[in-house]
Amino acid sequence: MGRRCNEDYDYLFKVMFTGDSSVGKSNIISRLTRNYFSHQCKPTVGVEFGIYTIQDKGKTIAAQIWDTCGLERYASFTKSCYRGVAGAVLVYDITRRRTFENVGKWLKELRDHANSNPVIMLIGNKSDLQHLRSVSTEDAQKFAEKEGLLFMETSAFKSTNVDKALQIILQEIHRVFS
Ligand code: GDP
Ligand code: MG
Repeated sequence: MGRRCNEDYDYLFKVMFTGDSSVGKSNIISRLTRNYFSHQCKPTVGVEFGIYTIQDKGKTIAAQIWDTCGLERYASFTKSCYRGVAGAVLVYDITRRRTFENVGKWLKELRDHANSNPVIMLIGNKSDLQHLRSVSTEDAQKFAEKEGLLFMETSAFKSTNVDKALQIILQEIHRVFS
């Protein structure tokens, strides 16, 4: 599953971000790959890539990050998009309950299309907006447990838990696929 490479890393894994629009996927990715946050709300056009690396058990593990594919796009594209995915991050917005309710739909699409058995992490983003919270941590945790997903709450805005989340999913991917 992980491609072996002789240059800057020992393993390269494809990690996909999905979830409703405006939940913060692009900002989480730009935090990870460029340490950049944008207040602008602009829809992602096409697939954006970024590379993120961690050290794990003496190896350099790189994630090739794919932003948003699925549902809203053409079926043939969706299929190729999910091909070879080692990990998937399903993002919802803790202030918009609807985005959490839609996680099941994203999960189904992922499980229908991914030809591998990817490691999946559920992320509740915008944890800085506690006063607007409409999804409790407990509800999300329960859902994640039931579905066998890793779980974390993040804030791309405050940079909270963003690196930690990627470290955790990449360590698990490394464990599972190497
Ligand atoms: P995407 O459609 O899922 O890629 O969402 P974006 O990354 O484009 O973010 C949508 C909007 O939410 C933008 O206005 C961002 O500035 C905002 N946003 C993203 N992450 C956070 C966060 O952690 N906290 C807050 N307060 N706003 C965020
Ligand atoms: Mg986006």
